[in-house]
Amino acid sequence: MRFDSVPMPPAVGARPRDTRGYPVPAITPWEDGEPQFARTDFGRSADCARRRLCSVCNALLAPGPVWRVVGAEESAAIAGALAAGRPYRNLAPTLEAPGHRACMLYASMVCPYLARPDARRGLTADAADGLTAHVVRGAARGGQGAVVGFGGFEYAVTADRVLFRFLDVVEFLPHEAADTHLDELRAELARTGPGQPR
Ligand SMILES: [Zn+2]
Repeated sequence: MRFDSVPMPPAVGARPRDTRGYPVPAITPWEDGEPQFARTDFGRSADCARRRLCSVCNALLAPGPVWRVVGAEESAAIAGALAAGRPYRNLAPTLEAPGHRACMLYASMVCPYLARPDARRGLTADAADGLTAHVVRGAARGGQGAVVGFGGFEYAVTADRVLFRFLDVVEFLPHEAADTHLDELRAELARTGPGQPR
């Protein structure tokens, strides 16, 4: 969806914009004044992990659940685990950092990179690191994904990357179409009000 047709969480509205007006996520690196949407900035990502900051809006994440947009394969794995009554564990570490519920609902509908973490990886050297070898390139945009709430996360900052592992699914909102989460986002923004997202 066009970014200006989706209600913007206030903290996202405070982000710097690119020339089209797109809000630039906190973990996106800048080069020569241009945001590099396809990449994840190491230092910014490490900041998010260590200081518990939202990877989209850069504001503090309250204690409790965190959210992330997952791609088609992880979405299917979570759906399968939930249907079978099994706990789901994201055992393979990911480069995708957590964020607020509102921020991730927004991102799932607006940003092709944020909305499709697999697509982001497909465009970067990150895809070659083996961590995401299970991701089928090219299929990412066609498949469904999900906005997922997790009870917690762990992280590791290595020499050149920040790895996240998410535990305990507390909310699972799969999407089939680009605007699936529009009503959910409106309700979330009404609930959290104009202050900091939660
Ligand atoms: Zn946020």
